[in-house]
Amino acid sequence: MALQVELIPTGEIIRVVHPHRPCKLALGSDGVRVTMESALTARDRVGVQDFVLLENFIIYTYIGPVLVSVNPYRDLQIYSRQHMERYRGVSFYEVPPHLFAVADTVYRALRTERRDQAVMISGESGAGKTEATKRLLQFYAETCPAPERGGAVRDRLLQSNPVLEAFGNARTLRNDNSSRFGKYMDVQFDFKGAPVGGHILSYLLEKSRVVHQNHGERNFHVFYQLLEGGEEETLRRLGLERNPQSYLYLVKGQCAKVSSINDKNDWKVVRKALTVIDFTEDEVEDLLSIVASVLHLGNLHFAANEESNAQVTTENQLKYLTRLLGVEGSTLREALTHRKIIAKGEELLSPLNLEQAAYARDALAKAVYSRTFTWLVAKINRSLASKDAESPSWRSTTVLGLLDIYGFEVFQHNSFEQFCINYCNEKLQQLFIELTLKSEQEEYEAEGIAWEPVQYFNNKIICDLVEEKFKGIISILDEECLRPGEATDLTFLEKLEDTVKHHPHFLTHKLADQRTRKSLGRGEFRLLHYAGEVTYSVTGFLDKNNDLLFRNLKETMCSSENPIMSQCFDRSELSDKKRPETVATQFKMSLLQLVEILKSKEPAYVRCIKPNDAKQPGRFDEVLIRHQVKYLGLMENLRVRRAGFAYRRKYEAFLQRYKSLCPETWPTWAGRPQDGVAVLIRHLGYKPEEYKMGRTKIFIRFPKTLFATEDALEV
Ligand code: ATP
Ligand code: MG
Repeated sequence: MALQVELIPTGEIIRVVHPHRPCKLALGSDGVRVTMESALTARDRVGVQDFVLLENFIIYTYIGPVLVSVNPYRDLQIYSRQHMERYRGVSFYEVPPHLFAVADTVYRALRTERRDQAVMISGESGAGKTEATKRLLQFYAETCPAPERGGAVRDRLLQSNPVLEAFGNARTLRNDNSSRFGKYMDVQFDFKGAPVGGHILSYLLEKSRVVHQNHGERNFHVFYQLLEGGEEETLRRLGLERNPQSYLYLVKGQCAKVSSINDKNDWKVVRKALTVIDFTEDEVEDLLSIVASVLHLGNLHFAANEESNAQVTTENQLKYLTRLLGVEGSTLREALTHRKIIAKGEELLSPLNLEQAAYARDALAKAVYSRTFTWLVAKINRSLASKDAESPSWRSTTVLGLLDIYGFEVFQHNSFEQFCINYCNEKLQQLFIELTLKSEQEEYEAEGIAWEPVQYFNNKIICDLVEEKFKGIISILDEECLRPGEATDLTFLEKLEDTVKHHPHFLTHKLADQRTRKSLGRGEFRLLHYAGEVTYSVTGFLDKNNDLLFRNLKETMCSSENPIMSQCFDRSELSDKKRPETVATQFKMSLLQLVEILKSKEPAYVRCIKPNDAKQPGRFDEVLIRHQVKYLGLMENLRVRRAGFAYRRKYEAFLQRYKSLCPETWPTWAGRPQDGVAVLIRHLGYKPEEYKMGRTKIFIRFPKTLFATEDALEV
């Protein structure tokens, strides 16, 4: 029997409406809880998790100002121009919850208060973050006034997306279009509210995907797009065949074709987009040469000679690589099969064995691809940069940030990548705590307002465990990376055990008690994250953190005549004695910078939920959702909202704005502003449960109270 799932805008999260016996999935103190409004039979209860969706599927709800969204996995026709219009200039509570309501509220705050805004979109892979980001951008592109000059920036903002997705997204088991990098995008508005520029920051592209994909997953879209959609002539120049099966870097996941993806069409879109974001034909050629060279690298084979040294056996591949990368054939051949060591001021060439040569080749492919991605982001940024940066109007721009970044990841096997991603989520949770929970509580205390303190776990202790100088996990990892030849993943683990052994959020096999020991392998450590336990295998930590590219490969690439490559590989890397920062440290620094950016803005939150793992409409997996409700921090959201006050204003400001509504305060109030406000709200008929008077501010519990007062102004 069909059941209908509906999200209701009341603070409760999900209500399942059964045609005959309604039941409700509501938020309880322990997360999602099923509340039966009338008894269900055993069969029906199974049905709750496995129902068929009906027509009017409502995917949005609010917890206070936080928008909660459930991925419907179907096209709902709720993002049209008419929908946009419906949400423009309308108060939050007057219309059903929608992403466009957030879009409009944020935009209005930006315009009227002239404060920078940031929309933080979170959720696990496949929950709908990127779709939400795209729809927000669409909203602004369609509804905002056009700038007086440089109207093309709107197109560029929109067209940067397909290009970044081609190079940074891939099919994974969780999402056919999974973003394999984190993205923060600023949109700049001029004083008239027109978009005039933008800027993108990208985080930690998953470059291991270039050389390896798990079963059922693909490499980055661009490879398949080029092979399917590229013109004959182009492919001939690049020395490529149409069939993805011909390329070792594309066959590992055994799923070149995906029914939901049309690579040929997508390629057309990407080609057009490249032109919009200012690529010249030459630059497109250079870019495609690089994409092709990665495929050729994957097909580069080695055989061992009598001394077990690796020799290149695929001359044809080497020929194309030489041409596409614009490097000397002999230099590249030597760099792929030898390692240059500098000992006592002398350069020595040490031959590589088969395994080392394959490692060097893959490292080169990853470096070439990921640096090209970074270059691409910089190139897009140049095209998005406001052309009016010097004009006076530029100085008065305001910024709206959109954060679309990977959510918490807990897999069967968790490695360095998950460690970084989960650390990022700890930082964002910490920011959320600072911006909402902590500052909220502190303000009530400072204002002398009586209220129930919200119980929350402050995860600063975990952030410190990861990032603290000298004692933190990243510091210890970096230290081990400084001992090449001596340190291994296991010595890193031992050091960790020595340094952080008594930390309540850290555990290893050695440190665990008898009972827990069974569940922990010897090469693993476990972190008790705010969202739950995650066990990480240390295998590969040193290697991934070092991200080593042999010196002679770097040298070869620095000599590249491909203009993009020569920008990606800079000679200063070679001469500079200083070690480059490790991956974890670079990531840590970019996160600290991100936190600073976000802190300086007014936050808005969109929390995305994935209803099932099957990417199917109308299926609802309660266990999965319960888990997400927990780590998205929805319980804290809910508790803060129930305990707190929606609005607060300084007495002076409040009186100034609304004094015209009361004959006693209009046109001037001679006494203390606080007394004036008391008179004013008595006149307006505020009920005692609607507000509290603090030391310097009035606190208003419900948005509708303030909205009603606002409306009265307009009459
Ligand atoms: P990842 O972390 O893997 O990048 P994500 O949270 O960005 O995941 P999306 O790519 O936005 O996830 O969404 C995954 C898929 O779900 C989309 O390709 C689309 O098919 C579907 N989807 C998401 N949101 C919506 C929506 N609002 N309406 C219809 N379909 C949606
Ligand atoms: Mg995404």
